[in-house]
Amino acid sequence: MAGNTFKTLDDIGDITGKVGLVRVDLNVPMSDGKVTDDTRLQSVIPTVTELADRGARILLLAHFGRPEGKADMKYSLEPVVAPLAAVLDRKVGFMQIPDADAIDALPNGSIVVVENSRFAPGEVTNDPAMAKAIAAYGDFYVNDAFSAAHRAHVTTAGLAEHLPAFAGRAMERELSALDKALGNPEHPVAAVVGGAKVSSKLDVLRQMVEKVDHLIIGGGMANTFLAARGVDVGKSLCEHDLTDTANEILEAADKADCTVHLPYDVVVAKEFAPNPPTRTVNVHEVTADEMILDIGPAAVEALSDVLKTCKTLVWNGPLGAFETPPFDRATVALAQTAAALTKEGSLLSVAGGGDTVAALNHAGVADDFSFVSTAGGAFLEWMEGKELPGVAALR
Ligand code: AMP
Repeated sequence: MAGNTFKTLDDIGDITGKVGLVRVDLNVPMSDGKVTDDTRLQSVIPTVTELADRGARILLLAHFGRPEGKADMKYSLEPVVAPLAAVLDRKVGFMQIPDADAIDALPNGSIVVVENSRFAPGEVTNDPAMAKAIAAYGDFYVNDAFSAAHRAHVTTAGLAEHLPAFAGRAMERELSALDKALGNPEHPVAAVVGGAKVSSKLDVLRQMVEKVDHLIIGGGMANTFLAARGVDVGKSLCEHDLTDTANEILEAADKADCTVHLPYDVVVAKEFAPNPPTRTVNVHEVTADEMILDIGPAAVEALSDVLKTCKTLVWNGPLGAFETPPFDRATVALAQTAAALTKEGSLLSVAGGGDTVAALNHAGVADDFSFVSTAGGAFLEWMEGKELPGVAALR
């Protein structure tokens, strides 16, 4: 992906009294009408407070869930307004739909949440008429929602065709971290790709092989690669129909001078439950009634040594079934090594994807990585080397 060729809030000029249409990510986890994790609200702070302090009038555009083009109150953004006001420590208003008279009446520095953009059927189809109509309410457009940037919707891309468009501070930070990790990284680069299935990350694996010096494969997907190399993985999660694909990836890695690291010891159990009897064995010693649920300590030690030789790390996916003890050990140990190397200043570490953030939080090291992206789909598409429509629209 190219460098930061987009405009930022530094390029907007005088915005006193101007109306900014600001796309943010308010798609927070909620339970019983309460926000259970306000990470995404926190990330809105820099852009929104800066624009308000510079005298703009801000309409926050965002989606919540998948209401499928109609006003389904189960997906209303109204319950997010008070928690957002608390996080920002500012007054925050709410509008069902943008209304010209109400917008005219807003004092400078106002912040207003507009109801779920996906209540309008034109949002997800990027309907040009809707983009034009919404754009008419604003003087400029800011996109601060990297996590929605893999969608070509009105509020993530279409508006940029009608208004001067800028990356918000969170977007800017995210794009610059991602660029340092894979766009223009310092070599050697290592990628950790873990998680359940090869099939969900085929394009990620293919792209990593071309980009990185060390590809560390863990999690359930390592079983498919082990099986492709003739290892009997017992009753492990394994996509046997993808062994040819796994071999193609291994060959491509060979050609591209990318060293692929598969575990040589693993932690196995006969049942997938918390704290069952386990064995730590060489991959060739897994019996027919056992499943691989984590990579072993010898593998982790070897991988730690690999990370010590690297300058850059990009991580997606856990090394084992980390939600179930004791199969969190490898993920926790390698994440702690990466965090320590980052703190020492020898490694730039970028991680992302839903489960990965949960795994790093579980390891207690999310704050010690150089950058942790909370974007799920957008982060993966970026690792796949795809141009994200929401980022392209800012160029
Ligand atoms: P993903 O969403 O593809 O990143 O996959 C994450 C999921 O993979 C987590 O829920 C892990 O529990 C699961 N996982 C990781 N390693 C294994 C394994 N060896 N066997 C089964 N599931 C695993």
